[in-house]
Amino acid sequence: MAEREVPSRDTLAVWAGEGDPTWEGSTQVPVVHSVSFGYRSVDDWLDVARGRRPGYIYSRNKNPTVRAFEEKVRQLEGAEAATSFATGMAAVSNTLFTLLSPGDRVVSLRDTYGGTSKIFIEFCPRFRIEAVLCETTDHEAIEAEVAKGCKVLYLESPTNPTLKVVDLARLARAAHEVGAAVVVDNTLATPINQSPLELGADLVLHSATKFLGGHADALGGVVCGPAGLVHDIFHFREINGASLHAAPAYLLLRGIKTLHLRVARQNESALRIAQFLAGRPEVGEVFYPGLPSHENHEIAGRQMRGFGGVLSFSLKGGFEAVRQLLPRLKYAHMAANLGAVETLVGIPATTSHVECTAQEMESLGIPTGLIRYSVGIESCEDLMADLAAALDGLG
Ligand SMILES: *Cc1c(COP(=O)(O)O)cnc(C)c1O
Repeated sequence: MAEREVPSRDTLAVWAGEGDPTWEGSTQVPVVHSVSFGYRSVDDWLDVARGRRPGYIYSRNKNPTVRAFEEKVRQLEGAEAATSFATGMAAVSNTLFTLLSPGDRVVSLRDTYGGTSKIFIEFCPRFRIEAVLCETTDHEAIEAEVAKGCKVLYLESPTNPTLKVVDLARLARAAHEVGAAVVVDNTLATPINQSPLELGADLVLHSATKFLGGHADALGGVVCGPAGLVHDIFHFREINGASLHAAPAYLLLRGIKTLHLRVARQNESALRIAQFLAGRPEVGEVFYPGLPSHENHEIAGRQMRGFGGVLSFSLKGGFEAVRQLLPRLKYAHMAANLGAVETLVGIPATTSHVECTAQEMESLGIPTGLIRYSVGIESCEDLMADLAAALDGLG
């Protein structure tokens, strides 16, 4: 057998960050609800407070359960350091506002997650930060904006909900020429399907609420990258206060132990369902990077190990057909979430772009009649039969 330097992601998903049994030989990471950590000596307490030795003081700053979650994601992303947040949006906002100051310029894409677009459209101007949102797959236009100078290039791939894919290595090279930091939201791909740091990104972040946790029962966010940058973001977050709590950290930690199994199934089912939908007469366009007809299929094939569990499609019958179809699905929650074990369906106005006004959605080019379908881990045959029955009944 060939020698391997590091365990595979499958093994890391299970074992990374778990540490040695700590409390009464427990094999599972304890959920440490304690807000603060007590000391018997002022000198020991000072040593930890001054960073002279590791330890915990107060859970807004650091907590052992939260630490285990950060460590597991850190290893899966192959990063030097990781820090966590109460939500994915806290990961996005704390990262951006750590890196950006008044007068700075950030370049990003029109198709970022709705909450992220909202930061660029509503909040950046308030702090006199110029945010330039480029046509998502127009690499020349993005490179041209980056070449004018910027502090941050913020990317997301695949995007939500139209599953556009950008060439991360190419854009990271362009950003590094002007000394910009490259941040990639890897939520839809997961560390199983894509490793942005290997492709040249400086920071990779997740809404852990989605695939990482995988069970739609805990909110969380995480950012991974070089120790210095991650420490700056950690410091901003510990003062800003958007800290992850131990209880959701434990749920996320447990969810990640099956990440590789869930994502493998979801990759496989999403491709079959995308192919099935593309062959249905009621369906207009199908957006899935695994389809050869997808505009960025070639880039996706180069930078992803799998094409992910989310697809979207339009119906020829327009919004009225969407309104009829969604409630007919037996095996899909109509709910604003993705990446869970259960299949989820929704439309941009109630899911990815729920934070945006109709006008903002139009300016971002988000189609309203689109259905986002996040494939769960159910039998793919059952999901296709469910979709077929719902499509058959369309008036
Ligand atoms: C959901 C999501 C977020 C925000 O995460 P929350 O945990 O809901 O705050 C950010 N980016 C992407 C791609 C998402 O899907």
